[in-house]
Amino acid sequence: MATTATACTLDNYLVLPDHTMDERIGAAREQLGRDVVILGHHYQRDEVIRFADITGDSYRLSQEAARAEGKYIVFCGVHFMAESADVLARPGQATLLPDLNAGCSMADMAEIGEVEDAWAQFVNLGLTSEEGQGITPITYMNSTAAIKAFCGERGGLVCTSSNANGAFKWGFSKNQKIFFLPDQHLGRNTGFGMNIPLDEMVVWDPYMLQGGLTADRLRKAKVILWKGHCSVHQRFLPEHVDKVRAKYPDIKVIVHPECRLEVCQKADAIGSTERLIKIVREAPAGSKFAIGTEIHLINRLAKSTPDKMVITLDDAGCLCTTMYRISPQHLCWALENLVEGNVVNQIKVREDVKHWAKVALDRMLEIQ
Ligand code: SF4
Repeated sequence: MATTATACTLDNYLVLPDHTMDERIGAAREQLGRDVVILGHHYQRDEVIRFADITGDSYRLSQEAARAEGKYIVFCGVHFMAESADVLARPGQATLLPDLNAGCSMADMAEIGEVEDAWAQFVNLGLTSEEGQGITPITYMNSTAAIKAFCGERGGLVCTSSNANGAFKWGFSKNQKIFFLPDQHLGRNTGFGMNIPLDEMVVWDPYMLQGGLTADRLRKAKVILWKGHCSVHQRFLPEHVDKVRAKYPDIKVIVHPECRLEVCQKADAIGSTERLIKIVREAPAGSKFAIGTEIHLINRLAKSTPDKMVITLDDAGCLCTTMYRISPQHLCWALENLVEGNVVNQIKVREDVKHWAKVALDRMLEIQ
């Protein structure tokens, strides 16, 4: 099995217009038949997601990746999602990311060396043993495989925005403290929803001495949050909620838990992308919604529910630019190469990392 494209180089595709891709993607898919499964994240653009066999949020797609039977999993999402698919894939399956530049700025905010350094400081302060007796490390799905493995090896697990609550309960059943990576907002919103006072949730800044925290604050904390965020969801502000409510007094504001606590507290509901979609679909005709999440999902939801008013919470419209990198040209290139027997852009997680990342992912799949 070749690992690089020779017959079909990407540059030849990138100069072609979008509309010429549809037929070619369709033809390549047909030739590959059941050998390929295409997974598409909700934030993916329309021209790409319409070719997905399965669409969903990162939780649903990780479940589907674990069940996928095809030889090839083509992941139209971002790097960490394809890594998780590779970790959960069966032997002999290959996971492809059509554009390797499709990363996630939040996942990049927790680098394994920095995280190991923070943990060593927790151990030195006597807060935990190296193996995790004292603190349960939990990482959001939006993190590298190395961070997932870090958590798995120390008795922790992975969570998504759909099951963060369950993961916290699981974590607290093992230890009195949680170390949550990399999204401080999801961690804070989850802890706050469980009545943990804000002063018992501290933020570890990897660029400051001892995370910018005193030993006393660390000892008293129930949750230590990594200083990471999603650049898309952090753009929503409490003022946006006030503004939209002033304009449409009967509107419901629903937001993703990667948004700031102040925004989530003003919202009518908080939920994963799957939950936000469900809320809108199940609402009576005539309902109005302002949604705080990625703009492609909102626009698609608005189109598919014309009997309701669905708008973005922020007029500027927040776009996940890294997700957007996957274009029909990239997808076509990956599929046509597969037809020729070339596996391009394969995501391969190192075996030792894979083992512990799988432990952490399996624990997550079991708590639901
Ligand atoms: S929306 Fe935010 S967390 Fe999700 S992939 Fe984009 S940058 Fe990462």
